[in-house]
Amino acid sequence: MARYTDAVCKLCRREGTKLFLKGDRCFSTKCPLEKKNYPPGQHGPTRRFRRKVSDYGRQLREKQKVRRIYGVYERQFRRYFRQAVKAKGMTGTALLQLLERRLDNVVFRMGLATSRAQARQLVTHGHIMVNGHKVDIASYSVRPGDVITVSERSRKDRYFKALAEDFGKRQSPPKWLSVNSDEMTASVVALPEREDIDITINEQLIVEFYSR
Ligand code: SF4
Repeated sequence: MARYTDAVCKLCRREGTKLFLKGDRCFSTKCPLEKKNYPPGQHGPTRRFRRKVSDYGRQLREKQKVRRIYGVYERQFRRYFRQAVKAKGMTGTALLQLLERRLDNVVFRMGLATSRAQARQLVTHGHIMVNGHKVDIASYSVRPGDVITVSERSRKDRYFKALAEDFGKRQSPPKWLSVNSDEMTASVVALPEREDIDITINEQLIVEFYSR
């Protein structure tokens, strides 16, 4: 499957909002969105950028925003949507919950990585364990009771040694995760609620997009 290898900051410029894809850089003045808050393209801000957006356009942009924040391809995103439709409660909330429960997101939210992309790499490179077993599948869906740890071998890596010194200061974990800063572990104490998902998104537009 083709991977997106272009500059990820272009994705934020396309959506016109910060998607926080580059870790610490997103919080600095180096964020390109500070200076170029218009869609990428050779001709700079054009009239096309200012034109009225249709309902379909708004729905599409909202869907793309969420897909890009979580780093999920279209096919996988549709699969999550189908699962969300079958789940109890609001479809939009169920969709966000499914995305939030991905192991790469949990690794990011507990503070082991500065971005979801980095978290995904930590998972796929085999540094992360769930309930004592190595899990290298970024889309692994955590459940209440799961304990996420760094493998014993990886703890000796320079990255994790340096991280141990300021672990806990990097992220404020959501209340559905109980983080032990000394051990660099997290327990899933509940399923994420909508208010725990701190992204500004109108998930109803995504439901409308797929219900056309
Ligand atoms: Fe987006 Fe972060 Fe790049 Fe800013 S620095 S444009 S928030 S990815």
